[in-house]
Parts: sequence; C-alpha cells; structure tokens
Amino acid sequence: MFTTLQDRLAATFKGLRGKGRLSEADIEATTREIRTALLEADVALPVVREFIAAVRERARGAEVSQALNPVQQIIKIVNEELIGILGGETRRLRFAKTPPTVILLAGLQGAGKTTLAGKLALWLKGQGHQPLLVAADLQRPNAVNQLQVVGERAGVVVFAPEPGNGVGDPVAVARAAMAYARDKQHDVVVVDTAGRLGIDAELMQQAADIRDAVSPDEILYVVDAMVGQDAVTTAQAFLDGVGFSGVVLTKLDGDARGGAALSVAKVTGRQVMFASNGEGLGDFDAFHPDRMASRILG
Ligand code: GDP
Repeated sequence: MFTTLQDRLAATFKGLRGKGRLSEADIEATTREIRTALLEADVALPVVREFIAAVRERARGAEVSQALNPVQQIIKIVNEELIGILGGETRRLRFAKTPPTVILLAGLQGAGKTTLAGKLALWLKGQGHQPLLVAADLQRPNAVNQLQVVGERAGVVVFAPEPGNGVGDPVAVARAAMAYARDKQHDVVVVDTAGRLGIDAELMQQAADIRDAVSPDEILYVVDAMVGQDAVTTAQAFLDGVGFSGVVLTKLDGDARGGAALSVAKVTGRQVMFASNGEGLGDFDAFHPDRMASRILG
C-alpha cells in the first residue's frame, strides 16, 4: 500500500538535497511533484488542492531555521499536513454513559464488515469489554454463518436470528439483540448490517431503520482501501443515507494506491478510527494519523 506515493515523494525530496535555501521555483516544482504523486495514488482532487495550497503557503512562509535544512523543513511541513488530512489526533471510540455501547457497521458488500466485526470484538475483549456481535445482515445467504464463525474465533457471543427473535427481519433481530445484551450484561453491542455491491436505496433504508431501532453511539463506515475514485461518492451516499461517525479502512495490506480511501475521511469530515491490514482477526488496530503519515513518507 502507498508504495507509489512513497517512491514519488522520496524522489521529490531527493532532488532538493544539498540546497541551502528553497527558492520560489523550488517550492513550485516540489509541490507540483507532490501533487502528481497524490493524484497518482488516487487522492481525491479537492483534497489534493487543499493539501498543496497549504504546503505552498507554509513553505513560502517558513523561517530560515538553524535546526532544519530546507529539505527537512519541507518534509516536516508535508508530514504535518499529511497528519492533518488523516485526521490529526487519533479518534477513540465513544462509549455510552449507560451501557451497552452500540456500534453499527455500515458499508458496501465485500468492504470487510463481517470480518471487522470479529476483529473489533477481539480488540474490545482485549480491553476488558464483553462484546455481543449481532447478525443483522440477512441479505447475503452465508453472512449469519460467517459472523458465527468469526465470533467463535474471537471467543465472543453472536446473536443470530432464530424463531421468536425476528427471523428474516434485521430490525427485529437488532431490537431483540439489545434486550439480550441488557439481560446478559454485554457492555458493547456490534451490529453487522447488509451491504450491496453498489449504492442501493432499499438497503440504505434498512440500515437507517436498524440505526433508529438501536440508537448507536458510533456508526462506523467500512471502506475497502482497494476501491478507486468512486470511494468518495459512495461514502457521501452513506453519509446522507445512514450517517456515520467514523471510518474504518480495511485491506491496507493490499497493493492498491490507497488515496481514494484516505480521501473519504477528509471529504466526509469523519475520522478514520481503525485500520485493518489482513484477513486474520489480529490484523487490526486503532488508526494513528501520525504513524500513517510517517509510513507514507517512508
Ligand atoms: P462484508 O461483505 O463487508 O461483510 O465483507 P467480509 O467481511 O465478508 O470481507 C470480504 C473479504 O475481504 C473476505 O474475503 C475477507 O477475508 C477479506 N478481508 C476483510 N478484511 C481484510 C483485510 O484487512 N485484508 C485482507 N487482505 N482481506 C480482508
């Protein structure tokens, strides 16, 4: 992931080495290279524009520094601006004052929601919580079973449709799950929802109905880092249709360019909270903008 971006940026900075001072022409040429690098990595155009404008302005205004040479100075600016588009500080999960905390997962089919449910459950368990996973994806024939499998691997309870708790009706399942969680003292409820391959009004409404039934504390929009330019449009549709409070990037272990997924957070104004980088349940962690920026800058 991000190898093109890394290589391009490294080459750009290398070209500046040895300069005692950055001229206006150097700043112009460097930011043009950075712009190309970001666009090639699929970062959305409005995000690139804002980024370049900020870097240019700061590079021009940079004081002559004793501590940093001009290249280090521009790398520092790029690093700080990258951290900015990645969301600045790490955004932590918001827990309900009165348990259970409810986390709703939304996103396209194949984005990695069901896998994420297992990862999140394991992670929460590691932090001393007692999560309940709820199978409210009744669209895909195998989704309930898949959630049961990841739940078993994570060693957490999975609430699945059964006669009496809303077979075939995801909203009824979600409601019944809330009653179950209260009864069994699960302090976090993670609700998996159905997605389609593209934007689908009916499923969007279903997710909104589930949302209204369970009043989530967090709605996490799950986005596959392999997606291309339409990632931003799709995310915007989910923001309008269901709303979300945070973003989870999945499949960061792939070799995609990654910039489209990163743009989702900036364009929707919702921070990336977690990142997944593999199929194993442990391949998952909180997202740290500063670490990601360092990784991109190599
Ligand atoms: P859902 O339709 O949104 O529930 O998506 P799934 O959880 O079923 O995931 C779709 C596919 O992506 C599955 O084959 C997962 O094993 C795979 N997957 C999920 N997360 C990751 C990840 O971080 N890295 C990789 N390489 N594969 C992942």
